[in-house]
Amino acid sequence: MTRLALVTGGTTGIGAATCNALKEAGYTVAANYASNDEAAKKFEQDTGIKTYKWDVTDPEQCVKGVEKVCGDFGGTIEILVNNAGITRDAMMHKMTVENWNAVLSTDLSACFYMSRAVVSAMREKGFGRIVNISSVNGQMGQIGQTNYSAAKAGLIGFTKALARESASKGITVNAVAPGYTDTAMVRAVPEPVLKSLIAQIPIGRLGRPEEIAHAVLFLVSDKSGFITGETLSINGGHHME
Ligand code: NDP
Repeated sequence: MTRLALVTGGTTGIGAATCNALKEAGYTVAANYASNDEAAKKFEQDTGIKTYKWDVTDPEQCVKGVEKVCGDFGGTIEILVNNAGITRDAMMHKMTVENWNAVLSTDLSACFYMSRAVVSAMREKGFGRIVNISSVNGQMGQIGQTNYSAAKAGLIGFTKALARESASKGITVNAVAPGYTDTAMVRAVPEPVLKSLIAQIPIGRLGRPEEIAHAVLFLVSDKSGFITGETLSINGGHHME
């Protein structure tokens, strides 16, 4: 078996593109998802990539999910892409505790639950690749997204810390920070808002899921073993410093 990769939220959008890119490059791939059985079924039929339903905000389900994937393929997870994410946008004065907690648990805590579930096997093997999908809005901040921006910025700190503590074990941990990318998440943004967001992108268009997947593929390669703790921005030309 080739290296075993698990992508959370792997059945749609950036996650699906990442699964496809990994499969095309010869990796063995498993895709997790939360609730959209129809999308998962179609994805599995179209790609032949096996899908696994569990909620990444539940630490026990993460452990069981990883065990199931490893049992099915007869190996351990060597590549983890923490991609599952949601938005619950609201201005601070209208942000509910539910909106805050939902985003923090899906976009940040899940990364801890999933990384913890795979890292011991990676340490034993002396090889691992973890890529966390952050966001331009974690780097820049965005109106109505204190929850999302906090979670995505948190991922960058998480990435740097786990990279340091895993560096001597052959495990690299990096983040990818996409700009606005053409997926269901962005198609939910009201048209006039989306137009003004696109107008602020120097390249003048949305990113394509495949363009984000391409960066993930680069980072998980055996050849990328000297890159760790890094955040790769893929956002059509925004400059962060
Ligand atoms: P989509 O909404 O297309 O896909 C999200 C995926 O995450 C779905 O497969 C969904 O499963 C899964 N998911 C959500 N919650 C959970 C959960 N609790 N447990 C397991 N899976 C879950 O989003 P995108 O492809 O746009 O986004 C992918 C990642 O990229 C996210 O982390 C997002 O924040 C980030 N990102 C996206 C940008 C964009 O412009 N699109 C820009 C910057 C970052 P199901 O379908 O079953 O609900």
